[in-house]
Amino acid sequence: MSNETVGFKRVPCAVCSGTGELRIESENINENFEVEKQTVITECPQCRGLGFIPPARPA
Ligand SMILES: [Zn+2]
Repeated sequence: MSNETVGFKRVPCAVCSGTGELRIESENINENFEVEKQTVITECPQCRGLGFIPPARPA
């Protein structure tokens, strides 16, 4: 088993802990004036949903 096909080490994204997505809890107030909590899952802006930081490319 060789795992050297990938020429770089993947560094897990610290923002999303390597999941590639962020969970944002938000509260909504419905028609009955009750607070509804919902979790919104968004793509991690730091790693763009990859879960790891892409290697920096030389300019
Ligand atoms: Zn991330």
